[in-house]
Amino acid sequence: MLLRNLKLLAFSGLSFLCLFASGKPAKPNMIVIMCDDLGYADVGFNGCKDIPTPNIDSIATKGVRFSNGYSAYPVCGPSRAGFITGRYPQRFGFERNPQYQPHDPNMGLTRKEKTIAELLSPVGYHSGIIGKWHLGAHIPTSHPMKRGFAEFYGHLGGGHKYMPEALVIKDSVKAQGEAESYRTWTMRNYAPVRPRKYLTDEFSEEAVSFLERNKKKPFFLFLSYNAPHTPLEATEKYLKRFESIQDSKRRTYAAMVSAVDDGVGLILKSLIENGLDEKTIVVFLSDNGGPTTKNASRNAPLRGKKSDVWEGGYRVPFAIQWNGTLPGGKTYDFPVSSLDLAATIVALSGAKVPEGKPLDGVNLLPFLLGKIKTPPHKAIYLRKFDQNRFAVRHGDYKIIIPWKGGSPQLYDLKNDIAETTDVSSQYPAQVIELDSLRKKWNSELVEPTFLGLIHLPRPGKKGK
Ligand code: CA
Repeated sequence: MLLRNLKLLAFSGLSFLCLFASGKPAKPNMIVIMCDDLGYADVGFNGCKDIPTPNIDSIATKGVRFSNGYSAYPVCGPSRAGFITGRYPQRFGFERNPQYQPHDPNMGLTRKEKTIAELLSPVGYHSGIIGKWHLGAHIPTSHPMKRGFAEFYGHLGGGHKYMPEALVIKDSVKAQGEAESYRTWTMRNYAPVRPRKYLTDEFSEEAVSFLERNKKKPFFLFLSYNAPHTPLEATEKYLKRFESIQDSKRRTYAAMVSAVDDGVGLILKSLIENGLDEKTIVVFLSDNGGPTTKNASRNAPLRGKKSDVWEGGYRVPFAIQWNGTLPGGKTYDFPVSSLDLAATIVALSGAKVPEGKPLDGVNLLPFLLGKIKTPPHKAIYLRKFDQNRFAVRHGDYKIIIPWKGGSPQLYDLKNDIAETTDVSSQYPAQVIELDSLRKKWNSELVEPTFLGLIHLPRPGKKGK
């Protein structure tokens, strides 16, 4: 096994060199498969036992599993804004889940930032997004095709009902508020279309169609499943795989994850059938940690859940394959971020980044090929403006500021992955170092530029 891996590594290094020997960028394709609210512990490659995910696991088996892979933020909207720009969303005020406001051009991703699709378009990439957008519902300015994507099939809001018969609002612009946005038809480019299938299946088939139609040009595909975000809805086909799970919530959740896994299988198969397997980087990750009580997801052994600055909030299932280039079956333990995906494809494609808007991620290839042996990041940062919370991961240590003015807590993640014991009094120098990193980073950020879901009045509660 060791010998095989060494051979693979040597081969990979060679092919990596060949890719660049001509001086021309390699221009591989990239597919990012992002789940919504999938727990850290809910894929086989992170130890899940009750939900088989053989297809998702095959990405880690053929490629690299990240044991310390972070999303850019612990809730959906800002996490996606970070991933899609390759920059911390706190730099440009996208620090809340946007409200569904089809008439508000400022409720979404600012035009001052570029998406991966906008960065890749000048170097000849064709970009598509399938599934959830959540970066603004104002069609004239925020629709994906106004943001560099050549194709869109999906929904503009932050979640969706899954059964076609429940999708009764034809026109997305007419949906009032969050609940109605879950019941719109999907859109193909700008046109409303009535979905025919269970939404996860529909998105998987659309992804295969995208690959078949675009196999001749470099492409970037963002397959943005809204599963397994609530509402918990699954078809009999998937539910009957989990009759042994007693808890009905967990059973439905398992069925939803299983549907995604089937879809990943279709996509991986299509890559091989279309001769794209070695030309395409495939990434799988979740946009944030599992909201355990809401959808019965699990983040064990991590502490906390979606929205938290604990590890369970934003350390996510994360794996990458590039067959023929990356070594297989490897676990990479240094912290990496979803912000690295933009930097990776930008570097490999030869795309240019605008002046004054440096990416926060790094090209992961030299790290995964063992050419650079140091950690990719000095630190991984998080701020949650509305709660006055911070987290900074640096090496094996992490500080958390639990609230405004609160004393920093320090955790040794190598020995205490579940963040049970604050060791700040034992390592005061570490606290000072990490807190100074935090202050410097925070000085580069702006305040949120739009109100969020949390500011909407809820039934029986006043908005804030
Ligand atoms: Ca999410």
